Amino acid sequence: MSAGVFSALFPATAGALERAFLRTSDGRVLRYGEARAQSARLAHALVACGVRPGDRVAVQVEKSPEAVLLYLATLRAGAVYLPLNTAYTAAELEYFLADAEPALFVCAPEREGGLEPLARRAGVRAVLTLGPAGSGSLIARSASCPDHFETVARQDGDLAAILYTSGTTGRSKGAMLTQSNLVSNARTLAALWEFTAQDVLLHALPIFHIHGLFVAINVTLAAGSSILLLPRFDAGQVLRHLPDASVMMGVPTYYVRLLREPGLARALLAHCRLFISGSAPLLIETHREWTDRTGHTLLERYGMSETGMNTSNPCTGERVPESVGPPLPGVAVRITDAASGAPLPPGEVGMIEVRGPNVFAGYWRRPEREREDFHDGFFITGDLGRLDARGYLFIVGRAKDLVISGGYNVYPKEIEAEIDALAGVLESAVIGVPHPDFGEAVTAVIVPVAAARPADEQVLAALRLRLAAYKLPKRLIFVDELPRNSMGKVQKKLLRERYAGLFRP
Ligand code: AMP
Repeated sequence: MSAGVFSALFPATAGALERAFLRTSDGRVLRYGEARAQSARLAHALVACGVRPGDRVAVQVEKSPEAVLLYLATLRAGAVYLPLNTAYTAAELEYFLADAEPALFVCAPEREGGLEPLARRAGVRAVLTLGPAGSGSLIARSASCPDHFETVARQDGDLAAILYTSGTTGRSKGAMLTQSNLVSNARTLAALWEFTAQDVLLHALPIFHIHGLFVAINVTLAAGSSILLLPRFDAGQVLRHLPDASVMMGVPTYYVRLLREPGLARALLAHCRLFISGSAPLLIETHREWTDRTGHTLLERYGMSETGMNTSNPCTGERVPESVGPPLPGVAVRITDAASGAPLPPGEVGMIEVRGPNVFAGYWRRPEREREDFHDGFFITGDLGRLDARGYLFIVGRAKDLVISGGYNVYPKEIEAEIDALAGVLESAVIGVPHPDFGEAVTAVIVPVAAARPADEQVLAALRLRLAAYKLPKRLIFVDELPRNSMGKVQKKLLRERYAGLFRP
């Protein structure tokens, strides 16, 4: 199907090479032709460091055009790109480096002194640096390299990247993504979302995660569009740059924060054609408020490190609030009974399972897990959901989040939706906390609207009208904010740890 991600997706026509690939907030423009030449130099530098096809290249650097080029260079050298969250500490990095055994580790210049000995201990052969403005030893080494590089041919099943799962539960595992996983998903999404060479994608996401890396960058390459690369999400900066963009991709938190900006106005977004949300649940209130304020309907899609994107609301067609849309063309989604594994009919809640060209090749060096993670060729996502009669998927929560109280299954999202709808509540997270009688007690952690905290009894009285008694929270806890990771996911594991002793006798 392809000769590898770079050869399959990077636009090669003379016209395309003249067009902008990356623009930065300070006005720098990097054309496709320049990106090809600079990624060639970087690929030569990687090879000179001993990187061979199939080797891992681990990268923990700040977002920059050069960091994007390093991703392309790694693909061109036939190596496996392994991005790491910039927030990881030395102790966390030691685990990833020892597990993945990369040939090369690229880090921020200021961290080199502390990380080099650790990388050597983990058996990494070379350490180079890359700073935000193109500083560091990697760029210095590539400067004198030729600007033509014969991209290494790859087979469909060869690895292109390893993404360590975000680890909100348990120890992080390396999801192995193949060349054809990335190529097929990028082409499918570019077509479904109607990307063209005229599109400019506002990019405020991190590039160490599937969303900002493969969804944003590979879809852009597949369509020959441009990226407006912002260093991070800052609501004011995003508002200033939106008039120059036609598409934005974001996590729900970005849209929540933009809605808090008084400057968010229809006229500002007149140029835009599409706002895409994913990586964490989007509240129906956010969906509605965005439509009211901007006239645009958010497009919600669903994916994960192991699979890329699985489902998406349509670009043309009905976008259903609270649904992540039907399966992508070529992808099959089914719902099964979490205990027996039997497929369930539309309307029933169960485990979401996925099969398709997007589904990864397993976890790095964990072949024994394969039996547990797959079911008749379908990947068991760990997410719970239901399909409606039209085939639209609704996510109900994570299987690990399911609360079993007095033998009854309680889906936290259902309770959270009811609590969030109450006056005086900004948002909530419902968890199960060990309880001597019930096994687990439904516990609601609630963020009130500033200065409008409702009384416990008010909340419970309202919930009693809407929910069966066994679903009612046994305890309400009011906090200023919920702990979230960089993709906007609420870290329920932290909440469960924090409140583990709440009902201890
Ligand atoms: P990650 O591998 O970090 O991308 O996390 C993937 C997980 O994020 C999925 O398994 C879902 O639990 C969650 N997720 C992704 N997209 C959505 C969405 N649109 N709505 C709700 N949860 C989502």
